[in-house]
Amino acid sequence: MTFFSDFLRWKSPLASARPIDESVYRMLAEQASDVLAHFGPDGTVSYISPSVESMLGYKPEQVVGTDMVWLVPEEDRPALVQALALHLSGQTVRLRHQTRLLCADGTPIWVEGNSVLSEDGTGSTILVLRDITDRKHLEDRLAALALEDGLTGLANRRSFDQTIDLEWRKTVREMSQLSLLLLDLDNFKQFNDEYGHQAGDDCLRSVAAATRSALTRPGDLACRYGGEEFAVILSGTSADRATEVADRIRLAIEALQIPHLGNSAAPVVTASIGIATALARVGGTMRMPEGLLQAADHALYRAKSEGRNRASRSLVFAPGVDGGA
Ligand code: GH3
Ligand code: MG
Ligand code: MG
Repeated sequence: MTFFSDFLRWKSPLASARPIDESVYRMLAEQASDVLAHFGPDGTVSYISPSVESMLGYKPEQVVGTDMVWLVPEEDRPALVQALALHLSGQTVRLRHQTRLLCADGTPIWVEGNSVLSEDGTGSTILVLRDITDRKHLEDRLAALALEDGLTGLANRRSFDQTIDLEWRKTVREMSQLSLLLLDLDNFKQFNDEYGHQAGDDCLRSVAAATRSALTRPGDLACRYGGEEFAVILSGTSADRATEVADRIRLAIEALQIPHLGNSAAPVVTASIGIATALARVGGTMRMPEGLLQAADHALYRAKSEGRNRASRSLVFAPGVDGGA
């Protein structure tokens, strides 16, 4: 069988020290939890180890004679085909590629494939497939955690910084507009003093949930900006709509009816909101997205000084060219 003869020809320091019988290789292949496969020069499977059944739910004979590409979801195929083209042309003798495969019951799993081109120049390859689904899920979870605020579950400051940058680039490309809300709880120091830090944390969680539930579009992102300050990025949104959203959030927070006797604006927890809208315009001079943050901060300061539990807004004309000064 070509798989084992290719394996025997494979130059390993161990193999040259003491030749190993073909049956040993066969046993290794058949006992391994990884899937081992041999592709002939025509690009189809000539051998696949029995573990393909526990990994994918297919019997070896269902896979032998095919190119296995049918196991790859449509959207993952272009990347695989591109990597394979380089590999099979000999430009990359070893190929390590991660992709999803569809099991017989339709569920996708993540696998890492390591493929080695045979040295005999025929174009046949040996492939080792490892199930990395658990590792992928863990990586995805860790990546999500790195962008999530631990207390409220909202996007965190790092996520805010990344998103506002991306959103501003999009705004410039589309010559459109971007709105930002900066929200700060009123007299929150007194809230902690009066009700305790634990109650303060509970309050922040409730305010975060109310803020999130007041948003309706998929492009709207609520973040914990720091302490008792929240930011909401409103993609492609005008000043008028941003004002509507700000009022909706403010009223949702007030409607929580969390008692706050030290609040100068109302006997319940309230928030002041600074609204800033940047319009991408040729001739604009404001540095972005810092200018948008500054404008929202000024508007927030105004809302505070005008009596709190209100929203105030600023307009920014920003450069309508990518990365403008
Ligand atoms: P103002 O209306 O002017 O905003 O008054 P303020 O008292 O809210 O003033 P400021 O915004 O400067 O105070 C922030 C306070 O928020 C300080 C701190 O006691 C509280 N705070 C910040 N982060 C947290 C947190 O994670 N948990 C709790 N419980 N309190 C926090
Ligand atoms: Mg504050
Ligand atoms: Mg405050």
